[in-house]
Amino acid sequence: MKAFVKPAEQNNLTTPAKSALGGSVGKLSSITKKFINEVGKDYPDFKIERGKQEHWSPKSNTITFNPDQTPERVRFSVLHELAHAILSHTNYQSDLELLKMESEAWRLASQIGLKYGVTISEDHIQNCLNTYRDWLHKRSTCPNCGLRVLQQNTTIYRCFNCQQEWRVSTGRFVRPYRLSINKKQYTNNRKTKSN
Ligand SMILES: [Zn+2]
Ligand SMILES: [Zn+2]
Repeated sequence: MKAFVKPAEQNNLTTPAKSALGGSVGKLSSITKKFINEVGKDYPDFKIERGKQEHWSPKSNTITFNPDQTPERVRFSVLHELAHAILSHTNYQSDLELLKMESEAWRLASQIGLKYGVTISEDHIQNCLNTYRDWLHKRSTCPNCGLRVLQQNTTIYRCFNCQQEWRVSTGRFVRPYRLSINKKQYTNNRKTKSN
């Protein structure tokens, strides 16, 4: 469970978008600031905050973005997390379901982006989804025999070929590279490349 969304840096925000931009705004371009203000006004139910890693927290209704990213990336990320929020993505039961949700979120993010003059490139979307695909591939590959198998439940994979079982961490809508595979030996056994 340690991979769960960490609370965003506490900024003691009282009002949503506006205060998210108060204080040290040095790194945000004026276009990005304007963009976030507009999104905040249009979607007052969600808080938009700066933090270390972009994510959506259904618990606190908060969209977190990383101000250290390029302005374009910040806009893409805010739209993406906003889409998760609008789609009421709370958690997922399987890795495949997460991949599906990611894909849906990007589709909606692209549509919403048009309203703000932000065009999310298909390249960016596919790159992001590929991160999840790679992650899914790794998690679903048997550390013992290399076969790819289906997930048993949220945290367990079981290989029908060699009966090996392995646990995976669960997370919400954080980038998958934060969700590491528990077993170290996994890397030693990754010989079989399958699709
Ligand atoms: Zn996402
Ligand atoms: Zn196996």
